[in-house]
Amino acid sequence: MALIVQKFGGTSVGSIERIQNVATIVEAEKNKGNRIVVVVSAMGKTTDQLVSLAGQLTGTPSKREMDMLLSTGEQVTISLLAMALQARGHQAISYTGWQAGIMTEAVPSNARIEDIQTEKIHSKLETEQIVIVAGFQGISADGEITTLGRGGSDTTAVALAAKLGADRCDIYTDVDGVYTSDPRVVGHARKLSTISYDEMLELANLGAGVLHPRAVEFAKNYHVELEVRSSMVADRGTMITEENAMEDQLIVKGIAFEKNVARITLFGLTEQSSGLGEIFSALALEQIDVDIIIHSQLEDGSMNLSFTVNSEDVEQATNLLVRKQEVLGFKEIEFEEGLAKVSAVGSGMISNPGVAAKIFTTLSGGGIPVKMVSTSEIKVSVIVSNDLMEKASNVLHDQFICG
Ligand code: ADP
Ligand code: ASP
Ligand code: MG
Repeated sequence: MALIVQKFGGTSVGSIERIQNVATIVEAEKNKGNRIVVVVSAMGKTTDQLVSLAGQLTGTPSKREMDMLLSTGEQVTISLLAMALQARGHQAISYTGWQAGIMTEAVPSNARIEDIQTEKIHSKLETEQIVIVAGFQGISADGEITTLGRGGSDTTAVALAAKLGADRCDIYTDVDGVYTSDPRVVGHARKLSTISYDEMLELANLGAGVLHPRAVEFAKNYHVELEVRSSMVADRGTMITEENAMEDQLIVKGIAFEKNVARITLFGLTEQSSGLGEIFSALALEQIDVDIIIHSQLEDGSMNLSFTVNSEDVEQATNLLVRKQEVLGFKEIEFEEGLAKVSAVGSGMISNPGVAAKIFTTLSGGGIPVKMVSTSEIKVSVIVSNDLMEKASNVLHDQFICG
């Protein structure tokens, strides 16, 4: 008898028919004699609709009340799925995040799971019950409901699988696996049979929305084998594990992209200016994440500093820097919005110099100017304008993966 955690995303539970379909998948595993924990997301676009309702009342809703609001979405799904399974004669019980013992940091809207008190789930599994847990939510030590960041139900599932010592964690979604890029955008994207934790983590962090990055982090740290598969088609999906299968030894394993990047440039920093430490500390104090940083020394000895932030933070960041201009000691500030980041990821890059060169040649051949670059051992990211993001993703994909 195996312990299996199954997770079903929003589209997979988007209607009563879809919930019945999920009940059939859960039932099939239960009938094989397995113990089952199911994690579900809010139905369809419910979370977006709740965000929009709040937006009709205020442009600056409190994060605490947003957590309270958004956590209701998953509560609808858990109860409906429990009813569907009970109607088929199974014993099933639904739990919200706090009932399931999911303890998180006290960080509203983007909390990390710190611990899961699993006694209750274990005791229900022992009596052959199917346990259904609301994804994306938990409770902080001071008793506040928290949410885990958009897409966070994946993390609930993988954290539960890790803590319960599950034999498998199956992530059921609206695609039949992890592709070499988002199949909705890159026409030639193809399904991978396996991908390593490290590559998946890079892709998820760089914008591949198929898995929440923290879910991959949990899977890697606790050696949880994940399978991403379709809730509509019975085929095998993609295994996310320690090692790659031989067939998938591509130099570049995938292309990820994300919009909403903005670049801020500070001109005319001098020896007398405060150090870079102060600039980035000031931004960090206001919780502004900085991504790519380029620092260039000019002939006259002065320096320019460019860095990227999320578009949502650009106004706050520039206002803050302008307020501190005198202390920080730069001459001018400029920002550019409407940018995107396109990244090529693959552990094969470590032993293959020349990938970056090929990326630049390919992009320039496609008439795509590169505004910034950042590299690590297993990825190269370029900043391009938003309207060239799809083209850049497709030409790089065709060059490295389908060529
Ligand atoms: P769920 O609601 O099931 O969690 P998501 O919408 O969060 O589903 O994730 C699935 C979507 O991720 C797909 O529909 C696809 O458009 C997108 N996606 C982005 N990158 C990839 C990729 N590399 N492989 C597969 N899907 C991807
Ligand atoms: N319902 C949440 C969201 O839409 C969590 C999830 O689906 O994973 O972001
Ligand atoms: Mg998701």
